[in-house]
Amino acid sequence: MAERTIINMKRIKSNFIDSVLYVVSTPIGNLKELSPRAIEIFKEVDLICSEDTRTTSSLLSNFNISKPFISYHMHNEQEASEKIIALLKENKKIALTSDAGYPGISDPGSILIRHCIENDIAVSVINGANAFIPALVGSGLDTTHFYFHGFLSSKESEKKKELMELASKKETMIFYESPHRIEETINDLFLILGDRKISIARELTKIHEEYVRGSLSEFKDFDFSSLKGEMVVVVEGNKEIKLLTDEDIKTLLKEEINEGKSIKDAVKNISENYSLKKNRVYSIATSLKD
Ligand code: SAM
Repeated sequence: MAERTIINMKRIKSNFIDSVLYVVSTPIGNLKELSPRAIEIFKEVDLICSEDTRTTSSLLSNFNISKPFISYHMHNEQEASEKIIALLKENKKIALTSDAGYPGISDPGSILIRHCIENDIAVSVINGANAFIPALVGSGLDTTHFYFHGFLSSKESEKKKELMELASKKETMIFYESPHRIEETINDLFLILGDRKISIARELTKIHEEYVRGSLSEFKDFDFSSLKGEMVVVVEGNKEIKLLTDEDIKTLLKEEINEGKSIKDAVKNISENYSLKKNRVYSIATSLKD
């Protein structure tokens, strides 16, 4: 067993010290998803670090908030973080925000947050909108265990490699995607993961919000030009991996039959419950008779 030591562990209460970085989630479409608490924080702070100062200032103008900005984006995260840490150490109140949803989720933010932690500066996350949670919940797929991947690589060979590594994952998988790549991504998912249930959540919280739910094989003749706007792809995990040798399936069939089910019902239940091909379960069931 690993030894336990308490050398590096630190505990910082957000509400009882002067230096706090507020990490504020902003709407992914519908402005009403900016929470009253987020509005209060934006009003209170001295400065706002923002991925795109024009986007944030236009959002805040809807709430009559105008503040000085610091630009914090993927190309200056390191230098901007050092500057922001210095300001936090002068007890300036600072909020960090991105274009939409949570900073640090497929958006800049993590580097500044890590620097704050290293400098004993409290980090307080102000909850709000995000794209992948509603996409997952609305998918109808298993939410007990899930895996968030964000964007797949833009290089085709890298992307295929990433998908091959994910092929055995049992958890429901979540990807961010864009309209110009969605067709290629659906084809890659089908090729590498096989046929699985899928849900595409598009334009969440906006007028054209839509869920496209089905299985990967059903996209064969699909009109992908109808999938416009921002989207999240949610894919069923590998249900067969934890499963099931022919012997396992035999045992399950015997259990069902011993409970009084007909062979037909036992095959139906097992193939549905374990996402197995009915033909496979049926052919094992017929071998039981022998
Ligand atoms: N930080 C954000 C979050 O917390 O969800 C994610 C930002 S990431 C740069 C942008 C991606 O999020 C889009 O390409 C899309 O995949 C997804 N997204 C953002 N807004 C969305 C919306 N309204 N509907 C569906 N997906 C959305």
